[in-house]
Amino acid sequence: MDKYQILKKHFGYETFRGAQEQLIDSILGGRDTLGIMPTGAGKSLCYQIPALLFEGITLVVSPLISLMKDQVGSLNAAGIHAAYLNSSLTPVQYRKALEYARQGRYPIIYVAPERLMTPEFLDFAGSVKIAMVAVDEAHCISQWGQDFRPSYLRITEFVRGLPRRPVVSAFTATATREVRDDILDMLELQNPTVVTTGFDRGNLFFAVQTPKDRYQAIRTYLEAHPGQSGIIYCLTRKNVEEVCQSLIRDGFPATRYHAGLPDEERKKNQEDFIYDRAPVMVATNAFGMGIDKSNVRFVLHCGMPKNLEAYYQEAGRAGRDGEPAECILYYSGQDVITNRFFIERGPEDAEMDPAMRRLIKERDEERLRKMTFYCFTNDCLRAYILRYFGEYGESYCGNCANCLTQFEETDVTETARAILECVADCRQRYGVNVILDTVHGANTAKIRNYRMDQNVSYGKLAKVPIYRLRQVMNHLQFAGYLAVTADEYAIVKLTPDSAKVLRDGQTVRMKLAKETEREEKSGGAAAKKRGRRGLSGEQSFGAGEESLFEKLRALRMEIAREEKVPPYIVFSDKTLTHMCIVKPRTRAEMLSVSGVGEFKYEKYGERFLACVREALGT
Ligand code: ADP
Ligand code: MG
Repeated sequence: MDKYQILKKHFGYETFRGAQEQLIDSILGGRDTLGIMPTGAGKSLCYQIPALLFEGITLVVSPLISLMKDQVGSLNAAGIHAAYLNSSLTPVQYRKALEYARQGRYPIIYVAPERLMTPEFLDFAGSVKIAMVAVDEAHCISQWGQDFRPSYLRITEFVRGLPRRPVVSAFTATATREVRDDILDMLELQNPTVVTTGFDRGNLFFAVQTPKDRYQAIRTYLEAHPGQSGIIYCLTRKNVEEVCQSLIRDGFPATRYHAGLPDEERKKNQEDFIYDRAPVMVATNAFGMGIDKSNVRFVLHCGMPKNLEAYYQEAGRAGRDGEPAECILYYSGQDVITNRFFIERGPEDAEMDPAMRRLIKERDEERLRKMTFYCFTNDCLRAYILRYFGEYGESYCGNCANCLTQFEETDVTETARAILECVADCRQRYGVNVILDTVHGANTAKIRNYRMDQNVSYGKLAKVPIYRLRQVMNHLQFAGYLAVTADEYAIVKLTPDSAKVLRDGQTVRMKLAKETEREEKSGGAAAKKRGRRGLSGEQSFGAGEESLFEKLRALRMEIAREEKVPPYIVFSDKTLTHMCIVKPRTRAEMLSVSGVGEFKYEKYGERFLACVREALGT
C-alpha cells in the first residue's frame, strides 16, 4: 500500500490537505520533521500514515491520557492496531500491552513521557525496532508556553539511548518563535524539515457582543442551536457553577468542569461531554487541553480571557472537523477588573525574583490591553487576531460579526469632548461607569455620594443612548485619548493626546454600526441570516437535508452507544454533512463520502445507507 491508499482505505479521504503531504514525504524520506499547523489542520495523519508504511514501531509521545485514548480509539475505529501505555493501565494490563508490542502487533504506540525512562520501557525499546519517535503537542517542551511539561525534557535522553536513532518528528499548533526554537533545540532535531502553515481557521466565525444580561444571551444562543455540542468558558469557578446550574434548571443538557471539583467528577463530566451525553460544557480555562472532540460547534466566552493566546486556543476548540463553527465572546467591562486581579495576584511560582515578577506583570498588562481592544474594534476580528500573531493579510474575512455589519464613519467629536471634559472636571478620580453615568445624568446613589450630580458635566449627554456613550468611551481608549489605570480601581485618566481634542479642536471619528444593523449584531440575527453553511461554505442545507442530518446523527449516537466510543469517532460531523449532500444509494456512492473508508464502510456502511434510503422514502 502507498500513502494514498492508506488515506482512502483507513481514513476515508481522497486528498491530503495543506502541508500534510509535504510533511509525510519528509518523514518517509527519513528526515527529522517539525510541523507547525493550526488546530484541526490534521497533524495526526502526518505521523500516522508514515508509521503504517515504516518497518518497525512508531512511538507517539503525547501529554495527556485523554488525548491518547481518543487517538487510539480513532485508529482502532479505522482498523489500525494501536495501543497506549500510560498510568491508566493496571500493571497487569501494562505488561500485557508490552508483550503484544514486542510481538509486533502495534505499528503505533502512544506513550506518556513519564514512562520513557522507566527500566521496563527502556528494556522493551532496546529490544525492538523503533522507526520513529513522533512528539505530539511538542510545545509542551518549551518553558515559554503555558503548557510546559518537565517530563517532555526526557524525550531527547530517551532517543539518544536507543541502539539506532529513529526519525524524530514533532507537531504543534503554537507558532511563536521562542517555542519553535525551543522545540528544534531541545529535541535535537537533525537537519529538520520545518513547515509552518498559516494560523487562520477559516471555518470559525468570530463575534464580540456586550449583552446586558449575559446569561440570557447564552440561553438564547443555545435555544437557537439545539442538539449542538459546545463549550461555555467562564472566568471563575463561581461563575461556572451559576451558569451551569441555571442551564440545567432551564432544561439544557449541560455539565461543568473546573479545578475545584473532585478528580472523579471532573473525569465523569468530561466523558459525558465527549460522548455527547451532556453536549454543553460550562468550564473555566482548566478545561480543554487534550480535548480532541471534533464536533464542537460553538465556543462561547462568558467573560473575556486574559490574553489573545488564551482566547484563540480556547475558541479554537470549535470546529476541528473543518465544518462551520462559532466563537462568540460576551464582553463586560467587569472582565478587565477580574483579569487585573488575576494579574495582580501574579504567577504561583514563589521562587521568582521581584524583577522577573514585574516584567511578567508588565507583559501581562500589555496582553490584556490588546485583548480588550479585540472587544472594541470595529475592524475584521479575524484580521485582528492574525495580526496579533504576526500574520498580515486581508483586512476583510466576510466571516466575522464585524465584516458582516455595515459600519459608517461617524463624527463623534461632541460626545468625545464631553466625556474628556468630565474626566478633567472630576480631576481624573473615577472609573468608566461613574464618568458615563455622570454625563448621562443617571440618578444613582453612587453618583449622589460622589456629588457628581452637582458636577458641570452632569447630564450633558442625557440624550445620547448609554450604549453609544460606551462605544465612544471604548474608542477613546482604543485611540489613545484616554487611558485606564492598570490597578483594581481602573481609574480613567487623560493622556497627552487628550489635549488635541480638548484644546486644539481635533475631530474624533469612529466607525459605528448603521442603526438598522445594530440589533442584528447584538441579537445574533446576523448569524441566522447567514444560514447553515455546508461543507467549506460552498453549499447550504435544504430543509430535507436538515432532517436527514438529524436522522444520521441519531444513528451515529446509537452506534456510538453500542460500541462505547464517542460519536465523532464513528463519523465526524463533516462526514455526516457530506452524506446529506451526496445522498448515497450504493456502496460506491457511500465510499465517495469524505471520511468513509473501506474499513468503516464494512462496519457501518449498510446501516447508514439504510438510514438514507428510509429518510428519503425510497
Ligand atoms: P490537529 O491535530 O492538527 O488539531 P487532527 O489530526 O485532530 O488535527 O485532525 C482534525 C480533523 O481533520 C480530524 O477529524 C481528521 O480526521 C480530519 N482530517 C485530517 N486530514 C484530513 C484530510 N486530508 N481530509 C479531510 N479531513 C482530514
Ligand atoms: Mg493534534
